Amino acid sequence: MKLRSVANILPAQAMKMGPVTIHQPLPTQKVEQIDPFLLLHHFGPWTVEPGYDPLDLGPHPHRGFEPVTFLYNGGLRHRDSRNNTGILEAGDVQWMTAGMGIIHSERGNKEFIENGGTLEGIQLWVNLAPENKFVQPRYQDMKSADFPRHDFGNGASLKVVAGEFKGLKGLAQTYSPVIAWQLELPAGATVELPVPEDHNFAVYLLDGKVSNNNGFSYEGRTMLNYRNNGEGISLTGEAEMTRALLLGGLPIGASVVQHGPFVMNNQTEVMEAMRDYQMGKMGFYTE
Ligand code: MN
Repeated sequence: MKLRSVANILPAQAMKMGPVTIHQPLPTQKVEQIDPFLLLHHFGPWTVEPGYDPLDLGPHPHRGFEPVTFLYNGGLRHRDSRNNTGILEAGDVQWMTAGMGIIHSERGNKEFIENGGTLEGIQLWVNLAPENKFVQPRYQDMKSADFPRHDFGNGASLKVVAGEFKGLKGLAQTYSPVIAWQLELPAGATVELPVPEDHNFAVYLLDGKVSNNNGFSYEGRTMLNYRNNGEGISLTGEAEMTRALLLGGLPIGASVVQHGPFVMNNQTEVMEAMRDYQMGKMGFYTE
């Protein structure tokens, strides 16, 4: 297999969001998107005392893309203007299509707030193609135990959230071809992962350390953006355990104009989104 090389190393930047600090490897000033991926936020791991909700995001709108939450530890509760309610526990994934517009809240769930514990997750923004920006909102809530998993036989394992890996089909339905795989890689284990040649591909390392086939090493809280110059990638674990989120997708190739929670193709559509939200066209949801 001809392996891809790394085009950009994107260290996650610490960013204040209200009372908490999250880590953002994408976008950066240099890399505005890894089409179709617009943004990645790694929150936690935070040790949380009982009675406190560090995220506590009240009702807010989205339009034109898909916010996806991978919960690694803790518990979250989702509610939205389409009457969807979801509880996420460790290992669960929530894939929300904002489409034409939705208002939702993202908070700790009751059990987590009461008991405290460790909270950690990733929120990923996946773009929608121009023809899909106004689709009806969709909410997919997927339980950890239901995902297909590949065991590499060397201690490494891969959870298939979206896209296909060695015949295993991810649970998430997507509007364009998207890969989302969650990898656990112990020290000394090497994995080779095939990637469709027309896909962009990136790896976000939550923690640990890996090396690639050229002998370069990369540490946790770093995103690797690969060149489209091969059929796959290779990673070798160099820490006791490395957790990585592997992301691939067929580029959409459209212009991106983002304003806060709206991701559209031009300024006029952004203005329209702000007006539609204020006029209640994305629905109503208060707590
Ligand atoms: Mn949101």
